[in-house]
Amino acid sequence: METMIEEKKTKPRVDMREQPPLVRARNFLEVPYGYTPDEAVEEASRCLSCKNGPCRQGCPVEVDIPAFIALIKERKFLDACYKVKERNALPAVCGRVCPQEVQCEARCLMGKKGKSVAIGNLERFVADYEADHGDMKIPELPKPTGRKAAVIGSGPGGLTCAVDLAKAGHQVTLFEALHKPGGVLIYGIPEFRLPKAIVEREVEYIRKLGVELVLNAVIGKLHTIDELLDGDGYDACFICIGAGLPMFLGIPGENLNGVCSANEFLTRANLMKAYLFPEYDTPIKRGRRVAVLGGGNVAMDAARVALRLGAEKVYLIYRRSEAEMPARKAEVHHAHEEGIEFMLLTNPTRFIDDGKGNVCAVECIKMELGEPDESGRRKPVPVKGSEFQVEIDVAIPALGTRANPLLTKTMPDLTVNRSGYIAAEEGTGMTSKKGVFAGGDIVTGSATVILAMGAGRRAANGINDYLKWKYWEFKA
Ligand code: FAD
Ligand code: SF4
Repeated sequence: METMIEEKKTKPRVDMREQPPLVRARNFLEVPYGYTPDEAVEEASRCLSCKNGPCRQGCPVEVDIPAFIALIKERKFLDACYKVKERNALPAVCGRVCPQEVQCEARCLMGKKGKSVAIGNLERFVADYEADHGDMKIPELPKPTGRKAAVIGSGPGGLTCAVDLAKAGHQVTLFEALHKPGGVLIYGIPEFRLPKAIVEREVEYIRKLGVELVLNAVIGKLHTIDELLDGDGYDACFICIGAGLPMFLGIPGENLNGVCSANEFLTRANLMKAYLFPEYDTPIKRGRRVAVLGGGNVAMDAARVALRLGAEKVYLIYRRSEAEMPARKAEVHHAHEEGIEFMLLTNPTRFIDDGKGNVCAVECIKMELGEPDESGRRKPVPVKGSEFQVEIDVAIPALGTRANPLLTKTMPDLTVNRSGYIAAEEGTGMTSKKGVFAGGDIVTGSATVILAMGAGRRAANGINDYLKWKYWEFKA
């Protein structure tokens, strides 16, 4: 056994082939090509099939990772995909955007001495294999329970909850404010990281499970939650509306023409297809010299989209050092390769007007790292007298988002915290309002796709229990 482990540890990890950086920096096609079947089998053969599967404990939706990798080794690719789908309805999405390096792959035993098994790449491979071979298996559903549930918001959390409730036999309606389902997966994460056809296919699976999708339905405006529960006969609601309200810097000049939040910029590029110019004539700020302000995934996406829309120069301005950047390491690496210029330990202080109401430069100040702050990261402190200006024609603040109060302000009996996030029990998603559950970014603040999915799963379990309890109470 020891020799087998040692042998496997010396086998190199199979990396995915990618489009060359300077080519992909000017197109919206996906960056990695994905594994061939032989590459997938070769990578799967590095897995030790550990008895307790420590990798599985690192997965918020508990995919049976050793089992699906074992099926790849046997070249049973469709069965491997069905195995993943037992626990995760969005494998093609998660295989692409989940931070595996801090979740399942961080726990992989192979990672102790060498490189962990590429679990994310393998998950992506089996999901794509299923798509290419046109065999979408729909599980058999139980007898209808006669219970109705409404899910508000069709991001990864809402989609997961809807699937689990449908699989439990409930009648599920998914209400979405936008004209397309998918949440951030469709309007935020760009095509070159997550092709929209993939999200659409995963949504199709959810439709085939019998979930009714109602689009262009802003809950809080079109219907209130009370109307759904009392008038429309829903027995329970799951609120999973994300945290999509952009934050700004609050510095002079932020309302000049050419300053646009990353949220709006990415929505115009992705959801409104500005990247398909001239087929779609969507108005969007296409700058020659663009400054993106921030250091998370959203900033990285905005910078790389600006480059692909034709910018000659894209600066990424971040007040801390690269080690503190919250973005995924792989995305930072890709941005460097594509030629984004990182201006680290730099903070914008004001935007400068060209005299006609347009931004023409950003003034910045140099920063140095001081003592750790409450987040444990070293606090950036301005260096006196180090101000300088950078000529730009577009600025994109990507400083994070917060809760949108549009729905919650119509629910006075719902407890929200000081920042407007909904208070919900961690294990079940239950809120202060009877029959109303919540999860995802609207409870935790901006987090990740898989954490929203985990919350959707726990809320579906909570709703199942609640519906049984409600039914028993009714019978009594
Ligand atoms: P969302 O995905 O935000 O979906 C909420 C949905 O609810 C939206 O469709 C919205 O239109 C709808 N809605 C809102 N209000 C209403 C209403 N009143 N009525 C009806 N519908 C409503 N995470 C990762 O794991 N990996 C990444 O690489 C990554 N990259 C990201 C890149 C960007 C640009 C952004 C913005 C986020 C990224 N994230 C990433 C974070 C991740 O996408 C989110 O944490 C996740 O999508 C949250 O899921 P959710 O279901 O809670 O909400
Ligand atoms: Fe395979 Fe790593 Fe999971 Fe062990 S921990 S079963 S090696 S993926």
